[in-house]
Amino acid sequence: PEMGRAFAYVILGGGVAAGYAALEFVRLRSDAAAGELCIISDEEVAPYERPALSKGYLLPEGGARLPGFHTCVGANDQLLTADWYREHGIELILGTKVITADVRRKTLLTSSGETISYKTLIVATGARALKLEDIGGSGSDAENVCYLRNIKDADKLVNVMRSCPGGDAVVIGGGYIGMECAAALVANKIKVTIVFPGKHCMERLFTPKIAEFYEKYYASKGVTFIRGTVVSSLEISSGKVTTAILRDGRRLPADMVVVGIGARANTALFEGQLAMEKGGIKVNGQMRTSDASVYAVGDVAAFPVKLAGGDVRRLEHVDCARRTARHAVAAALDASGGVGDIDYLPFFYSRVFALSWQFYGDNAGEAVHFGDPDLAASPAPKFGAFWVSAGRVAGAFLEGGTPEEYAAIANAVRRGAAVKDVAELALQGLAFVARE
Ligand code: FAD
Repeated sequence: PEMGRAFAYVILGGGVAAGYAALEFVRLRSDAAAGELCIISDEEVAPYERPALSKGYLLPEGGARLPGFHTCVGANDQLLTADWYREHGIELILGTKVITADVRRKTLLTSSGETISYKTLIVATGARALKLEDIGGSGSDAENVCYLRNIKDADKLVNVMRSCPGGDAVVIGGGYIGMECAAALVANKIKVTIVFPGKHCMERLFTPKIAEFYEKYYASKGVTFIRGTVVSSLEISSGKVTTAILRDGRRLPADMVVVGIGARANTALFEGQLAMEKGGIKVNGQMRTSDASVYAVGDVAAFPVKLAGGDVRRLEHVDCARRTARHAVAAALDASGGVGDIDYLPFFYSRVFALSWQFYGDNAGEAVHFGDPDLAASPAPKFGAFWVSAGRVAGAFLEGGTPEEYAAIANAVRRGAAVKDVAELALQGLAFVARE
């Protein structure tokens, strides 16, 4: 006989969005019956704040460890341990992968052979790290090649790092993961070379001028940048990489390799069943998919961003996961249809070494830089850029701001503050938003 259980609400995936969705569910439905909500995750632990994996988790000592960073501590909210789910009658099915989904029948089949049916499904499957094999390379199986998406990856990275004190790391990729891991490796006294094909780091967000500051800062910590080329192969001996070979023939000795070459949304279960866009599951302003019983949130969801004129975006950032999750739960629980469309202000941040920046909005239009990113003048410079589009502030980036200053740039973007003269804006810098 086929095993099976039925739930009114099922959250598929147990990452950031799942944790925030569960808390919102409990808050909005204090009368929820035990067993109404179930979360299915192929990870072994309750939802946690994934950004910690490339920051606190990698510290050489006193690093962040579970249960310390389960959701929702990243938003200064309740810490949801496995006990919390139990106490609230939420079925947390861990270490279990959903292998097929049938949207028409409203069922999910798990790796343990169980069929779980739902009335309402929230898809929160997130994204996965792209592998070297996905871009025509090889070597992912080597003992000292690391990725960073989940706790297992982070544990491997920590172990490999500790196995080669003072050694050489080659970091492949100059995006978020590459840059944050490079900083962590330096903190662990590993010598780092970062290799990426672009002209500068964080190419999708940073302007050349912003990137120059961070690259100089990293260089001052001993990090070497190799731009405009790629690692074409890894030389492996007894299961371990020894050398990374660049396209131009250069050979980099490597005691370890960290790969951060991007992510792909986990949409496969729903291909051919739900409408897709921007590499994710397409949803409306209520986070509802093309099937009325299915919502999608977090990294896997492509949703209309009002501030960008309703343009559909897929944003792989933690704040987006939290907010879209809450919005979907509010919409799914709302029988009266009173929950409006999400009005999301895109927000990302990063923290490396003693630095920290925030970005709001859209990096579209003309970049107008302000402040002095000169390390010689100040070890903790404050600088940034506004992106001006059609005479209005569309995006803003700030390094080293105070909470008030971050709130002020966010506000300027949200309101689309009018800019009469970009030269004047460059001179005023933060005074422009403080004055508004
Ligand atoms: P995830 O948190 O990835 O959760 C998806 C979950 O679904 C996972 O548990 C996965 O195992 C599970 N799953 C997938 N498929 C199945 C299946 N078939 N069956 C069962 N379970 C499944 N963002 C920022 O804004 N700032 C940062 O500083 C930052 N740092 C980051 C650092 C790292 C190392 C990483 C990896 C990401 C970082 N992010 C950061 C991005 C942020 O963590 C993500 O945007 C966020 O985790 C997305 O939440 P999610 O719930 O959509 O996906």
